[in-house]
Amino acid sequence: MAHLTNTAPTAELQALDAAHHLHPFTHAAGLKDKGARIITRADGVWLQDSEGHRILDAMAGLWCVNVGYGRRELVEAAAAQMAELPFYNTFFQTSHVPAIRLAERLAGLAPEHLNHVFFAGSGSEANDTNIRLVRTYWEMKGAPQKKAIISRWNAYHGSSVGSGSLGGMKGMHAQGGMPIPDIHHIDQPDWWSEGGDLTPEEFGRERARQLEEKILELGEDNVAAFIAEPVQGAGGVIVPPDSYWPEVNRILDKYDILLIADEVICGFGRTGNWFGSETMGIRPDIMTIAKGLSSGYQPIGGSIVSDEIAEVIGGDEFNHGYTYSGHPVACAVALENLRILDEEGIVTRVREETAPYLKKKFESLADHPLVGEAKIVGMMGSIALTPDKASRAKFEDGGALGYLTRERCFANDLVMRHVGDRMIVSPPLVISTDEIDLLIERARKSLDEAMDEAERQGLL
Ligand code: PMP
Repeated sequence: MAHLTNTAPTAELQALDAAHHLHPFTHAAGLKDKGARIITRADGVWLQDSEGHRILDAMAGLWCVNVGYGRRELVEAAAAQMAELPFYNTFFQTSHVPAIRLAERLAGLAPEHLNHVFFAGSGSEANDTNIRLVRTYWEMKGAPQKKAIISRWNAYHGSSVGSGSLGGMKGMHAQGGMPIPDIHHIDQPDWWSEGGDLTPEEFGRERARQLEEKILELGEDNVAAFIAEPVQGAGGVIVPPDSYWPEVNRILDKYDILLIADEVICGFGRTGNWFGSETMGIRPDIMTIAKGLSSGYQPIGGSIVSDEIAEVIGGDEFNHGYTYSGHPVACAVALENLRILDEEGIVTRVREETAPYLKKKFESLADHPLVGEAKIVGMMGSIALTPDKASRAKFEDGGALGYLTRERCFANDLVMRHVGDRMIVSPPLVISTDEIDLLIERARKSLDEAMDEAERQGLL
């Protein structure tokens, strides 16, 4: 059997990586000079690299390894399914047990009126599905002009041309011809950066009302859907003010516009409930899922769709699907992952025990001189770095401090991500209170070191 365990020196692997491997969201020349950090194995919340460092993964990979690394049950579920039926498709009136069971399970977990699942291989694919689903739905309802989809600047919905267009990352739109037509963006509810003199509550309402203004500008008869993450993740963990979602709900109801809740990060316990929609009080018509669905052990995503949409779409052939829609091995692993989350009471423990513990510790970082606000919902949080807390000032060289802090975290064997000058945590949901203490200790040390380094470099 071919083993991929590391036997080569790190420098050799780095050279091969630089020679042949194109990385996502990476400046290739910069990486070549530095050499990639090579992760070789992992267990619980701990990664190990090719140099033998043990690193606390406060990002759960890419916000996805909810049950933690090293769960044998998931390995066994994959192996058993591969032996029995490694692949079959779900096209052309065929099905298989893992897809049937997983769809049933998801219908049981999702809000009452969402009982139908269209599977995909990733969150991006699922959001591409959603674009076609909502437009086809309105077409079949006799309203083909309802095509516009409203999203938000600084949202992240994926990297394919469709989902990247839904997202509001201007740097992504600048490359490769995005956005596609009929996608519109409104401003995000980021009070810290954009709230000016308004109170958070006033600002939340103001940002929600931009949705109403956009609907009226486009014409209410032309708008198919609004898409949003219950709590923006990749944009920097932007926790909206409490006034935001109730006002958005009111507006969507008033104009009969579908709501797609992108639960790719928020789903499967991350916010302390099964879905972020519960935590934020949202009533979606479609939920996008991926990541925590399989805890990242297999690539799988999907759209959980309302009874109403499923019924209308079911009236004709929906000409859409991926080879790996409902992949049996991915479905079997996802089912086992949901069993673990449920039977081990992981979501409940997050809500009642570890998330409140993390919140207290994480918010205490706000007393650090570099930290403006520290915001956290469940197991996803961020701190905003600032040269002046009182005025919520931004650094002139946006992102430099975040990068510096991220590098100090790495040096201290802690993975935190930086988005501009926000530092993010999103640890595996199984993180213990001792590990949370360690996370905070290393984060504080890294902030101290980043501040010293910034002073040396004249950034402060
Ligand atoms: N939606 C959200 C909210 C996400 O955070 C992501 C990935 N970070 C995606 C969609 C895209 O998922 P994927 O990378 O699996 O395509």
